[in-house]
Amino acid sequence: MELLKNFIDGQYVAPLSGLYLDNIEPATGQIYSQLPDSDENDVTLAVKAAESALSAWRVMPIEQRAEILFNIAVEIERQLEPLANAEAKDNGKPISLARSVDIPRAASNFKFFAHASSQFSSESHAMADQAINYTLRLPVGIVGCISPWNLPLYLFTWKIAPALAAGNCVIAKPSEITPYTAYLLGKICQDAGLPNGVLNILHGKGASVGAAICEHPKIKAISFTGGSNTGAAIAAQVAPKFKKLSLELGGKNPALIFADCDFDNTVEQLVKASFTNQGQICLCASRIYIERSIYDKFKMAFVKKVKQLVPNDPMIEDTKLGAIVSKPHFDKILSYIDLAKQEGAQILTGGHSVQGDNRCAQGYFIMPTVIEGISNSARCNQEEVFGPMVSMQPFDTDEQALELANESQYGLASTLWTQDLARAHRLSEAINTGIVWVNCWLLRDLRTPFGGMNQSGVGREGGLEAMRFFTEPKNVCIKY
Ligand code: NAD
Repeated sequence: MELLKNFIDGQYVAPLSGLYLDNIEPATGQIYSQLPDSDENDVTLAVKAAESALSAWRVMPIEQRAEILFNIAVEIERQLEPLANAEAKDNGKPISLARSVDIPRAASNFKFFAHASSQFSSESHAMADQAINYTLRLPVGIVGCISPWNLPLYLFTWKIAPALAAGNCVIAKPSEITPYTAYLLGKICQDAGLPNGVLNILHGKGASVGAAICEHPKIKAISFTGGSNTGAAIAAQVAPKFKKLSLELGGKNPALIFADCDFDNTVEQLVKASFTNQGQICLCASRIYIERSIYDKFKMAFVKKVKQLVPNDPMIEDTKLGAIVSKPHFDKILSYIDLAKQEGAQILTGGHSVQGDNRCAQGYFIMPTVIEGISNSARCNQEEVFGPMVSMQPFDTDEQALELANESQYGLASTLWTQDLARAHRLSEAINTGIVWVNCWLLRDLRTPFGGMNQSGVGREGGLEAMRFFTEPKNVCIKY
């Protein structure tokens, strides 16, 4: 049985407690490795390493720091195949998706923030009475980055790269459900020339090592992506400690489909928006609102296409839908499908689990599920399922569509499907989500602000927003 290790001070080390957790391959339901069950003592060790590394890293010339980040990106690209394999095995996502999206994006994160470090600037404000202000943007110091299981290396590096680019040392924790590619990242960073102690990767449970990262007085900022309840617990924990906090949380994303949409393209894109990564992307559509005049036509075309999606072994090249990430999450999704039935839903397709073939007989597979016939306030339309299940509802006017979309505690992402430019602009402004895609989905420019409102989070990642989060502004006023 392979034992994963923490990465502290440039070395792979066992957890001080000697305790490990099982790591399960979702496609088979079998334990295939174990990860450290780290605790506050491992955090103390990692913080000591980060403290020793900080003074040199924060003043390293930008070109040199950027070159190291580029080297990491190049190394990730060089290891595309083993990393994609590891990600598909660990998470259950189709290997084609890991190869075309997750791993390339992890490399892009490092490249993008290598550039960003050299382009980052701050303000200067001249005053009338012979004085000038300039704002320094200094590294925060030691920061904590905590990430979820759905896009493991992709989201882990989305936090680590800007934190390093801004001159911080990092204590990072991947999800205990998908630790493997984060484990591999340690060696990649070492080979790329990252000085020891600049990035420390700790594995284990949120309640132990995650909470210890949030608690440690020398960790000055926490960047967290995960569920809204966890975000609330972290906010309550760190607020009295006055740490900087960035929260990227859950969603219940609406898609608004108008009669004038480009029909075939919308059907095709929306199937992707609903079921990519088994619906386990925080940006996936889950509430689909369709203008009544095309409701039946759209529903039939959508369901027909969804029926072609059959979950299969993620390691097979042409698999489009893989396994659900874990048994507890599999049970949670099935419980929501049961709840939908109790809430009066008609199941248009799916609605059940399915047994995998051969080595996947004990894996966690759920048929992509489309429902209709529940009210907008039903729990299945209000609570985040985070799996392959979407619900459909008709609407009659733009105002009604907007009202339905905005009736949510969340506010992460929305999609609008229309050829009417004025409507697209009007609704984009009025809809309560941090991200709006018009006639597209998941088209990402890393310079743009990324994040949600309401229960979907506080603050934004991406581009300058991330560089600002990971720096402390200090104003200097000079009278001359
Ligand atoms: P989660 O909240 O259970 O865990 C996320 C991470 O936080 C894990 O590493 C976990 O170990 C850690 N953690 C748990 N409790 C902690 C605590 N008390 N203190 C510190 N760390 C703790 O989320 P998950 O199940 O891994 O991920 C799914 C959720 O993430 C969904 O709600 C999804 O919408 C959300 N998500 C949001 C975004 C976004 O950008 N807004 C992106 C991806 C996923």
